[in-house]
Amino acid sequence: MSDAGALVDSHGRRLRDLRISVTDRCNFRCLYCLPETEAAQHFYRGHWAGAADPAPIDHPWLPRAHLLTFEEIERTVRIAAGLGIQKVRVTGGEPLLRRQVEQLVARLARIPGLEDLALTTNGFLFRSKAQALRDAGLKRVSFSLDSLDPENFRKITGRDGLAEVLAAIRLAQDLGLNPVKVNAVIIRGLNDHELEALAEFGHAHGLHLRFIEFMPLDSARAWSRDLVVTGREMLQRLEARYALQPVLSDSQAETARRWRFARGGPGEIGLIAPVSEPFCGHCNRLRLTADGHVRTCLFSVVEHDLRSHLRSGETDAAVGAWLRGVAWNKEARHRIGEPDFVAPSRSMSCIGG
Ligand code: SAM
Repeated sequence: MSDAGALVDSHGRRLRDLRISVTDRCNFRCLYCLPETEAAQHFYRGHWAGAADPAPIDHPWLPRAHLLTFEEIERTVRIAAGLGIQKVRVTGGEPLLRRQVEQLVARLARIPGLEDLALTTNGFLFRSKAQALRDAGLKRVSFSLDSLDPENFRKITGRDGLAEVLAAIRLAQDLGLNPVKVNAVIIRGLNDHELEALAEFGHAHGLHLRFIEFMPLDSARAWSRDLVVTGREMLQRLEARYALQPVLSDSQAETARRWRFARGGPGEIGLIAPVSEPFCGHCNRLRLTADGHVRTCLFSVVEHDLRSHLRSGETDAAVGAWLRGVAWNKEARHRIGEPDFVAPSRSMSCIGG
C-alpha cells in the first residue's frame, strides 16, 4: 500500500498497531492503575513526595450506550485494516468482563489484512473463556502478573487471585496461544524484590516476561519518579543473576528490548522502559477507548471522537479520511519528565493498555 492510502503521521511514522479497549470496567484494583483499595492508599502515603494525600478517585463507569458496539468496533477495524493496520490488541479495563467478547474476536479474526490478533487480560476470568477465544481465532494472549506471592498479589490487585491467574497462564500455553506473554509492572518498594523470582518463573515455564516501568497513568495521580525502577536498573539486576543474550527484533516499533537466557529454554525477558528510555520515535500505535475515542498517544491530552462519526451515517471512506487526519497529528513524543508534562485525565483502565 502506498503512503497515500495509509495511516501516516507528520513525523514520518506509519501506523500499524491498534489497541482497542472494549470496556472501562475492571475486576481488579491494581495499585498502579485504579488504586482504590486501602492497601493502595497506605502504600502511596508512605511514598508520597508532597504533603498531601493522593488525589481522590472519581471515575464513574461509562454508560452502556457510550460503549462502541461490536458492529462499530468491527467496522472501525475493517476501515483501519484498509489503511494498513496489521495488529489489533483487545484490551480494557478487563476485556473478559465485556459480555461475549469472544464474538468480537471472531468478527475481528475474519478481517482481511489483519496479521495479528491478541488480547491483554488480568487472567482472572480466562479459564471460562479460553477455549471459546481460541476457537474464535485469538492468536496470542498477554497476562498481567506483578507478583508470585499471594499476599503481595492481593496488595497490588485488591483481589485474591494468584492461583486463578497461574492456572490461566498454564491453560493458555496448553491451548497453544504461544508465545504467552506476561506483563509485570515493577514498582519500587512494592514488588521490585520479586524481579528475579518473576524472571525465574518465566524461564521455568517458557514464558515471555515483560518488565514494565511504572508510568504516570494511575487514576489517583499518585505516580512519582522515585517509584519507577528503570529498565537499566532491572537489566543490571537480571544480568547479575543470568547470562542473557539479546534477541534481535525485526520490528523497530517493538516496545520491548528482549533477551533470552544463555542457559537455553524458550523463555524470554523483555524490558519496556517508556519513562527512562522513550521509544516514541518508532511508535506505530493508535488506541481506541471503550467509548469510541481515538488516542494517538498513551499520554495524549486530547481525544478524537470517532463514535459520533460512526453514528452519524458517514461512509467508510469518510470515516477513513477522518482517521487519516487524526493519525497525521499524532504527537511526536510523550513529555514525561518535562516541565510542561500533563498526566492524562483518564487512567490506563480507561485508555486501554
Ligand atoms: N485488565 C487487563 C490487564 O490487566 O492486563 C488489560 C488492561 S491493563 C490497563 C493493560 C496493561 O497496562 C497491564 O499489563 C498493566 O500492567 C498495564 N498498566 C496499567 N497501568 C499502568 C501504569 N501506570 N504503568 C505501567 N503499566 C500499566
